Amino acid sequence: MKIAVISGKGGTGKTYFSTSLAMSLEKVDFFDLDVEEPNGYIFIKPDISEEIQYGLPVPEIDENICTFCNKCAEACSYNALSILPQLKKALFFPELCHSCGVCSFVCPVDKALIEVEKNIGVIRKGKFLKGNFIEGKLNIGEPSGVPLISGIMKDHLDPERTAIIDSPPGTSCPVVESIKKADYVIIVTEPTPFGLSDMKLVVEIVKNLEKKTGVVINKDRGDSKATEEFLRKNGIPVIFRIPYSLEIQKSYSKGISLIDTVPGIEKKLKRLYEDISNV
Ligand code: SF4
Ligand code: SF4
Repeated sequence: MKIAVISGKGGTGKTYFSTSLAMSLEKVDFFDLDVEEPNGYIFIKPDISEEIQYGLPVPEIDENICTFCNKCAEACSYNALSILPQLKKALFFPELCHSCGVCSFVCPVDKALIEVEKNIGVIRKGKFLKGNFIEGKLNIGEPSGVPLISGIMKDHLDPERTAIIDSPPGTSCPVVESIKKADYVIIVTEPTPFGLSDMKLVVEIVKNLEKKTGVVINKDRGDSKATEEFLRKNGIPVIFRIPYSLEIQKSYSKGISLIDTVPGIEKKLKRLYEDISNV
């Protein structure tokens, strides 16, 4: 099973839940794909053993060889190149480049345009309890986490092992990329008007991707009527509840996991995983 944990907005307890779900299982790989602000390590406390720099190919133009024919700029769909023949200048805008390789393919002059690697982030790997920890961290200023997330999923997702994927918050492209390979998507929400509003947006995403889905209600005080009404209309079950409790909030703020805070919750999370596996 590959289970992605998402939330329409930050601060719903997504990482708090996903880390404890992973810690309650065996032979599991935990992926922190919240690449702009990975913080699953705070609860999981892995022993990191490996750091892999992650890069993408981008063009580099040698203005001494380039004939300024403009073919590369014409072929670039993202306007990442600008050729100025009068000034004999070739400008490259890395933040617009999608590393598609088209410019190097169309350049007719040998060695005028070569591909070089641009570092966009780092992948950290390690161990925790009975599992593997894999985290992506995007360099500050990088425009999108999608390439790093897709690279991690391509190179490190083991088809034979259980994976718990902590997705980025929100509803943008990195979230979609992080759940593409999931068999099941868990949405973590809180029973507030903001929580409901943002959950509606992620429900649209999982529906469009035709993913099996269940919802975890965090900070549950028995006042989640509007949330449950919406879920019932959309045929989505509430699969778990984390009660509102001062003790849990204090533990959370100290980086202590849910399973180290609430006695017996580990067994419940194991059972939840088994139930999900049989859906
Ligand atoms: S296609 Fe090659 S030769 Fe032509 S402008 Fe681009 S880099 Fe220069
Ligand atoms: S690699 Fe693709 S996106 Fe980047 S500059 Fe070349 S053609 Fe444009």
